[in-house]
Amino acid sequence: MDRSYVVPWGKRGSILAEAEVAVLTELIHEDTPLSMGGRRERFERSFAGTVGSKHAISVTSGTVALELAIRMLDLEPGDEVIATPQTYQATVQPLLDYDVRVRFCDIDPDTLNIDASAVEALITPRTKALLLVHYGGCPAEMDAIMALARRHGFLVLEDCAHALGARYRGRAPGSLADIATFSFQNAKNITTLGEGGMVTCDRDDWAVRLDRLRSNDIDAEIVRSDLSDTVEPIVLPWMKYATPVYSDSVRRLRRAGTNATMSEAAAAVGQVQLGRLAATGATRRAIAARLDEVISRYPFVRPQSAPAHSEHAYHLYTCFADRQELRDQLVLGLDRRGVEIQLRYFPQHLLPEWRHRGHLRGECPVAERLWFDQHLNLPCHPRLTPSQVDYLVDALDESLAELNGGAAAPLASAAADLGR
Ligand SMILES: *Cc1c(COP(=O)(O)O)cnc(C)c1O
Repeated sequence: MDRSYVVPWGKRGSILAEAEVAVLTELIHEDTPLSMGGRRERFERSFAGTVGSKHAISVTSGTVALELAIRMLDLEPGDEVIATPQTYQATVQPLLDYDVRVRFCDIDPDTLNIDASAVEALITPRTKALLLVHYGGCPAEMDAIMALARRHGFLVLEDCAHALGARYRGRAPGSLADIATFSFQNAKNITTLGEGGMVTCDRDDWAVRLDRLRSNDIDAEIVRSDLSDTVEPIVLPWMKYATPVYSDSVRRLRRAGTNATMSEAAAAVGQVQLGRLAATGATRRAIAARLDEVISRYPFVRPQSAPAHSEHAYHLYTCFADRQELRDQLVLGLDRRGVEIQLRYFPQHLLPEWRHRGHLRGECPVAERLWFDQHLNLPCHPRLTPSQVDYLVDALDESLAELNGGAAAPLASAAADLGR
């Protein structure tokens, strides 16, 4: 049943306005291709610049970006992959297609990110890669994780679906590990008209493989050889593929390619959206600061806390209640007041597909306790109007006061006045 909320969770995660209409109008009126034109290339260059990576390879979704990025890890049967259980299913689902052992690593109770201090115990000689997410846009502790990766020789993939606009020691997620993926789906920090994604990396050989993979070519080691002696090529001037097809041969075939080409329309909108990121990111942070202020006045709730040397992108606003009954009452209190609440995400290792692979309750106790008892996400997106934000702040304060035995906590500023 659909119900209309005073403060909805967010039908979209970004703002689209006249600038997006203008670039689409221009594209439609031009007599140029709608695919594989110059807009995609421009968007990729701008994106690489924003993130600080050497390469940015656009694709049709964050999920496809993950599927293709995971192929770069060259996982072999028997390899092990360490992964966070607190993420959207697309982060780890591609691993179900590989004969690898996944070791879910427990999370940090303050950030919901993979707990760098718990990683080491899961490392074995077969550890090939680690998959992490910057949960909600809160940067993971990359220094500690990358130090372990370099020491033990495994690769790190950052799922940055939430993290566009975040910073870690002044650098952007997407340039902090070996390879990274982004999503431009409807709800994310920028959108390419509803669906889209990007892979970023510095390695030239991976950029070539990714470009081939998304363009219906094979992922293979190709060598130049003499023209085949079994097939006589027909080479006419207009046959642009004839010569390479007949003169290349495959030394090692890894996987088939696919078509994950981002359309010119999507790329044109992505370019405009990238220009809006500073403004929409500031709105997200301003809303989060007001929610933090309310939360900080009640002793039985706490906000997610980003590492000191980082900047949170607030794709999600997350807080925790001390006990399950408080969390559940808070969800109901907010819902009753017209604030739409969602809880993200169910611990991955307890989804049926991972239990089918032998994963069990108890494997990641912190992730389980936070999800089942404490964790809560509040609406925080740039399409909320100032009056909706005011309403949200008041509804949160009232709902928390109700749990505080009906007593509203004093405003921090009022408390400071009394103290003087
Ligand atoms: C949205 C999301 C994805 C998948 O992106 P799509 O573009 O929707 O395919 C992957 N990981 C995380 C953490 C996400 O939130």
